[in-house]
Amino acid sequence: MEANSVADADVLIVGAGAAGAIAALTATKRGLRTVVLERENKVGGHTKTKIDVTEGTGILPIIRSLELKTLGYSNTSHWSAPNTSLTLHSKTSDVFFKRGPDSDSLETHAVQAAKKRGAKLITGVKKLEYLLDAKGYCSRVEAWSGQKRYEIRPQTIIIAEGDHTSSLDPLGFSWRKQEPLRIIGYGFSSRRMKLASGSTNLFLDAELLPKGYFYAIKNKGFGFASIVLDARQTAKKELSEYYWDFVHANPTVRELVKTATDAAYVDGGCTAYSLDSLTKNNILAVGTAGRLFDPLFGYGVRQAIYSGYWAATALADAKGSKQKDWIEPGIKQYEIEMQRQLLPEIRAAWKARPLFESLTNKDLNTIIRELNSAGEGADELIERPSAHLFKIMKILLRHPRLAWLALKAIS
Ligand SMILES: Cc1cc2nc3c(=O)[nH]c(=O)nc-3n(C[C@H](O)[C@H](O)[C@H](O)COP(=O)(O)OP(=O)(O)OC[C@H]3O[C@@H](n4cnc5c(N)ncnc54)[C@H](O)[C@@H]3O)c2cc1C
Repeated sequence: MEANSVADADVLIVGAGAAGAIAALTATKRGLRTVVLERENKVGGHTKTKIDVTEGTGILPIIRSLELKTLGYSNTSHWSAPNTSLTLHSKTSDVFFKRGPDSDSLETHAVQAAKKRGAKLITGVKKLEYLLDAKGYCSRVEAWSGQKRYEIRPQTIIIAEGDHTSSLDPLGFSWRKQEPLRIIGYGFSSRRMKLASGSTNLFLDAELLPKGYFYAIKNKGFGFASIVLDARQTAKKELSEYYWDFVHANPTVRELVKTATDAAYVDGGCTAYSLDSLTKNNILAVGTAGRLFDPLFGYGVRQAIYSGYWAATALADAKGSKQKDWIEPGIKQYEIEMQRQLLPEIRAAWKARPLFESLTNKDLNTIIRELNSAGEGADELIERPSAHLFKIMKILLRHPRLAWLALKAIS
């Protein structure tokens, strides 16, 4: 069958979620010929409307330079354990993004901006075929959307398919299951949540929410409340039951999230595995497809923005250097950037996960109390623990059980 359309591209981006949309906008801004493929019929259609909140570390300059759409910023978050709570003032702002199909969502807005700069977007792509040469390089891709067949001849490919990526295997990436960990969320979006704007509230309860947490956030009149748990817990009871049991047991939370009559239910998650490398020949994996997410809290939008931006930037820098072969240096530069910036913190979060999972409510209360007595320094202790080892040692010496758990996590 003749292809309906043939396109040459410097970069083909597979997936127009957070990571793919940012990669597309960055690539077009830097003059790369860009094609974006999206499985859903509409960008953002992979999730219902929700809010993601994330630490701004590393992405605030990217948000500014790409003029990304945000729902606002906040420097204050509230952390609660069953008998104590903490209000944390951070130096670096948290950023709120609308996600999903609305025109002001992070992904829709970025893809529209990329289209204005010449990106070609193909939606409704239900089938993809990568044609590899003898060395495993892919310079021809066939994509089917409805009755149409497209042929793309890319120099490089960015895989940004999110959690359910199906391209890594056919493209020769090697990976292994890291742990049988799947972090899942279940929650509701609503305009009626009784929270202050710019509000981030996190609730920890080792008995009602084992190995997880509940959070409620709101910005610009838009609220989202959700639980996040390890999927293994659902062998014991349904995810929705955890949500409602926690809400009903906690009058403060009940008050915050009730009257959500315009609520939209959202769920989803992230399965953990580790890639041996984020790149293979002329292909780069970004965002959750590259397992660039925080296994402690299940957050991934900052990692998606950061990796999408740096994948396209590394390729554009390499192409701009006018070297004849720009692909290999570009791919290498992306890997270096991720090794330097994102992978150390992800590895540290993996180490912290068993420690988090073993905390009892008594431990959680102790930690929140200690952070409260650290006052303004609490933010630094959480964000840069390695710079405050002496202070942390002093705290741990007062709590031998926590010291023992920390030692187990490090060793
Ligand atoms: C309920 C819930 C709440 C969350 N809350 C937060 C939060 O508060 N903060 C935070 O940082 N993170 C949060 N996350 C995680 C965050 O949403 C993800 O980490 C982030 O979206 C990952 O971005 P991504 O671009 O890698 O993948 P996605 O955003 O999942 O995008 C992947 C895209 O690729 C498309 N696609 C997939 N396969 C193909 C294919 N073969 N061809 C073409 N297109 C394809 C999909 O349709 C989708 O559009 C939450 C997740 C859930 C489920």
